[in-house]
Amino acid sequence: MLARSGVVCQIPQWRRDLVGAFTRPSELLGYLGLDPAALPTVANDAAADFPFLVPRAFAAQMRRGDPDDPLLSQVLPRREELAPCPGFGEDPVGDGAAQCAPGLLRKYPGRALLIATGACAIHCRYCFRRHYPYPRATAGRDATAAALAAIAADPSIEEVILSGGDPLLLDERRLTRLVNALEAIPHLRRLRLHTRAPVVLPNRVDGPLCRLLATTRLRPLVVIQANHAHELGEAARAALAALREAGVQLLNQSVLLRGVNDETERLIALSEALFECGVLPYYLHLLDRVRGAAHFEVDTGRAGHLLAEVRARLPGYLVPRLVREEVGRPSKTPIA
Ligand SMILES: *Cc1c(COP(=O)(O)O)cnc(C)c1O
Ligand code: SF4
Repeated sequence: MLARSGVVCQIPQWRRDLVGAFTRPSELLGYLGLDPAALPTVANDAAADFPFLVPRAFAAQMRRGDPDDPLLSQVLPRREELAPCPGFGEDPVGDGAAQCAPGLLRKYPGRALLIATGACAIHCRYCFRRHYPYPRATAGRDATAAALAAIAADPSIEEVILSGGDPLLLDERRLTRLVNALEAIPHLRRLRLHTRAPVVLPNRVDGPLCRLLATTRLRPLVVIQANHAHELGEAARAALAALREAGVQLLNQSVLLRGVNDETERLIALSEALFECGVLPYYLHLLDRVRGAAHFEVDTGRAGHLLAEVRARLPGYLVPRLVREEVGRPSKTPIA
């Protein structure tokens, strides 16, 4: 295809990967050799307000024929999502109140979180942003300009966190424009990306992205999200190696999820696999109490017990900080 400028305009591979993603549970179950009748709790209507989306690179890491696969459990819509559940709401972490410009969240000193896009490469059923009003929070270029102006006006902000959705679903042009605009704000020192893309859409870590991160004057950090060691297959490992070569500091955050990673051995295997990829475990979050995710919750007592077991077995740098997000606190709240 020829663009108007005459420059050859190619659709990047990761865009094509997204187009090829599974968008129906039945397709994914067929691919895994699972009979939908063997999974009576799968509910297509649960996906009505939060559609099903699973890229093939992530599906390729699932075990065929296993209805309890920990990667599959993260993405399958279940009937339980539709059951009313007291205490589980639309905005469990107070994002609405923390918004100080369109898409800009200020909760903690020194850092501002910018919702760069509402789009994700995968839809995780436990996600606390599953009901977030993205269309209102990310209203295109004007909204971004207002958010950038708010950051520029506050010299106490040293770090901007690009989040979402997934900020790496921005295309190269928009991402570069955004990073360039942030670089021009003199008081910014660090640029952090919160993204699942290196794990679930590894082709997103391409040459242009690595060059952008390698050449920015801001110190780059990428916080990935992997919840189980099986997510770190060959393609994800290559993506992480490329980011490391670009000089990016890599960290991981996980959510403690029933049936996915709520076992000592699984948490240990995850930390060890992350370290092999040059990624340090950062946070292990207790589930945010969002409507539709109650079946993933692990109670606090059990979470503390699991972490104590991990701590007794691993060096300190491989033990994630167990935290919960509480509205109105100056940081994530550590769980003793
Ligand atoms: C979690 C979060 C951060 C980042 O907190 P760190 O402890 O620095 O990782 C920043 N801003 C908002 C709004 C957050 O929710
Ligand atoms: S990638 Fe992140 S923001 Fe998107 S659905 Fe998953 S947990 Fe939520």
